[in-house]
Amino acid sequence: MKKNFLSMAVIALLFTACDNDKNEVVQEQQIDMSDFYVFTDVNEDLSSKSVDSKKTLKTCYTMNVLNKQLIENPGLEKKMYDIELHTRQFLTAKGKPGGDSGKPGGGSGDTDIDVLPIDDGLGTINIPVYIHIVLPNANDVTNSQVQSQINVLNSDFNSPNTNLLPSGATNFVNDATTTDVNFTLAGTFRHNNNTASWGTNNAIKSAYPPITPETHLNIWVCNIGGGILGYAQFPGGNSNTDGVVLLYSSLPGGSAAPYNLGRTATHEVGHYLNLRHIWGDGRCRQDDFVTDTPSSDGANYGCPSYPTINCSSADMTMNYMDYTDDACMYMFTDGQRNRMRAIFTSGGSRAAMAGN
Ligand SMILES: [Zn+2]
Repeated sequence: MKKNFLSMAVIALLFTACDNDKNEVVQEQQIDMSDFYVFTDVNEDLSSKSVDSKKTLKTCYTMNVLNKQLIENPGLEKKMYDIELHTRQFLTAKGKPGGDSGKPGGGSGDTDIDVLPIDDGLGTINIPVYIHIVLPNANDVTNSQVQSQINVLNSDFNSPNTNLLPSGATNFVNDATTTDVNFTLAGTFRHNNNTASWGTNNAIKSAYPPITPETHLNIWVCNIGGGILGYAQFPGGNSNTDGVVLLYSSLPGGSAAPYNLGRTATHEVGHYLNLRHIWGDGRCRQDDFVTDTPSSDGANYGCPSYPTINCSSADMTMNYMDYTDDACMYMFTDGQRNRMRAIFTSGGSRAAMAGN
């Protein structure tokens, strides 16, 4: 169920006031939106994957939720298109040589493309977080676990573990980055509720609505059911359902091994900040709109050896936006950093969160 936008080039006119003669200088920059898509084929064929069948497959339901929301809300597609256009305009305007171009995607499998972190002038972005714990016994997730989860987010978004990179993966060293996004616990709310599984239809958000989602990241911790670890809402969605839902046992110290080091939250917050899955939720030609992440033919599971070759290049299986074990993912890239931070800049969909 793939639906591509019509190929079209949008000419962005950037008006810059000239200091000397007050004349307006019109700078034309071409923004290529031809590869942007929203609907994805999430029903991946796992038959070709060499996966230990005894292992539970990692399941993030974000794209399924997105597809459903796109059907139910005809205006969402245009909103997400506008957010993507803003992101690409920002990357094009601020991108330096060697950095992002106006075509962040394009299914590039070239891992040698090195993106530079863009100085957007925002400095460290602090995101206050509300945690809603909804369980039959809401005290089953402790304050210590909640704080550990916040610590993992801060560590993952700011301290890539490049020392864990396989010796052959030297071309990924320069890609690993700090995003300069911090998370602070603003409050924890516990609700004893006997609902056995909440599913992915946002029912939990109706029962316990997000608090000031314009300025706060809301995270619901519950039993989702169906073996699903989490789901997030991309920028552009309804504010009443904005935030991230996590399986309670995925928090640090939980029972969802090998997914119990808190990196389900890292992955889902990546979606919340506009990152796609690293394989673009399609085959080699589908992209995640990030230049310095190699194309991949699908999700990777477990703890893959290096190199895992797909689409004629080594997959970045250690990226937080893949499906690998928590212990085996440890980096975002500069391109992902720039893409996330674009939504905090002036006119961006989460600009209010950065005080813009
Ligand atoms: Zn995901």
